[in-house]
Amino acid sequence: MPTESTFLLAGLFLLLAAAGWALGRFGERDEENVPPPLNIDYLKGLNFLLNEQTDQALEHFLKMVRVDDKTIETHFALGSLFRRRGEVDRAIRIHQNIIARPDLAAEQRDQALFSLAKDYMSAGLLDRAENLFTQLAQGSRYQVQALENLCRIYEQEKEWQLAIESGQKLEVLGGRSLALEIAHYYCELAEAAAASNDYEAARKYVKRAQTGRPRTMRGALTRAHIARETEDNKTALRLYHRIIDENTYLIAEALPEIVAIYEREGATAELELALESLLKKHPDMSTLVAYTAIVNDIGGVPVIDACVEDYMLNEPTLGEFVDLQRLTGPDQTDATALAKIRKALCKLASATPRYQCQECGFSSQRLLWQCPSCRNWETQRPASRVQFDTVLQHSITQR
Ligand SMILES: [Zn+2]
Repeated sequence: MPTESTFLLAGLFLLLAAAGWALGRFGERDEENVPPPLNIDYLKGLNFLLNEQTDQALEHFLKMVRVDDKTIETHFALGSLFRRRGEVDRAIRIHQNIIARPDLAAEQRDQALFSLAKDYMSAGLLDRAENLFTQLAQGSRYQVQALENLCRIYEQEKEWQLAIESGQKLEVLGGRSLALEIAHYYCELAEAAAASNDYEAARKYVKRAQTGRPRTMRGALTRAHIARETEDNKTALRLYHRIIDENTYLIAEALPEIVAIYEREGATAELELALESLLKKHPDMSTLVAYTAIVNDIGGVPVIDACVEDYMLNEPTLGEFVDLQRLTGPDQTDATALAKIRKALCKLASATPRYQCQECGFSSQRLLWQCPSCRNWETQRPASRVQFDTVLQHSITQR
């Protein structure tokens, strides 16, 4: 089956043939650079293509058309077309061929190195891409793009210290703030240090994360986790409450922690009071509290249970299946039936994504600070309702 690149190369061979024919006919042929009219070379190249031997056809093309000032742009265009079509090996071959030219001007050499580095990125050869981008970041007209790509590479390789250094250079040269990205790089270092119980280093990284603007609440969340791990419950609770106050959506992360700490301390009355005052301050948080409680199977706390019941009674899709009003009433409430529905909701919610990126729509079960799809930081928000449509879609596609 002929691929797009087969047609592309066929087109180039035909163009060359036409150019050769025209120049030959009108006697303007430059013996040095332009091949003679329709000769055995074109036929050989086309023959490779007809036999679907695209690589041989490309090699033939590269031998026929030397890289010089007149043809270099065609080579670059061909290379970038191959990369865009996912034929990275061929793009690499073309760009290496350009670099091999001994008398290449410095600017063209940088362009070829930059293109080759992008090919390596597309091929997932991050080490090779990193080497070339590092070279270009030291002084070329691709300095800013090279640093941007280095940041992306270090993010993928989780080389956070190097990402910070590249980000800081990029801020100076690119003239734009990377405060949010750099804050997250420090948070990554803090979380890694905390995971290996090096809380002192973790606290230092969090401090650095919190110096930039705009600030991320992730630093506070990491500090709260450290406090929880080191059994400094007072600090942990103070931080979790502050996090919710500033970024209400983070209750999806903080609520299970808050409940666990109060329960561990046997302070259920204080937990009730704290949640009551929280809901008084942010009444619109009730749905997210209910959803978070359903997903994490948090029960037995009257304030939370009231939110869950309210949520279930007002869930329109659920109402189409069960007449919940009949299960609850001033005289008696069918607690067993409600608990069963709640369990079923918990199962459904666990089977569907809880977080979604506001930029590109990518969804996941747990909170991802950097979206794996659009690479933006802190763009995910939690769902506040069970995604019935996703569940239904899922069950239809499973059939
Ligand atoms: Zn995204």
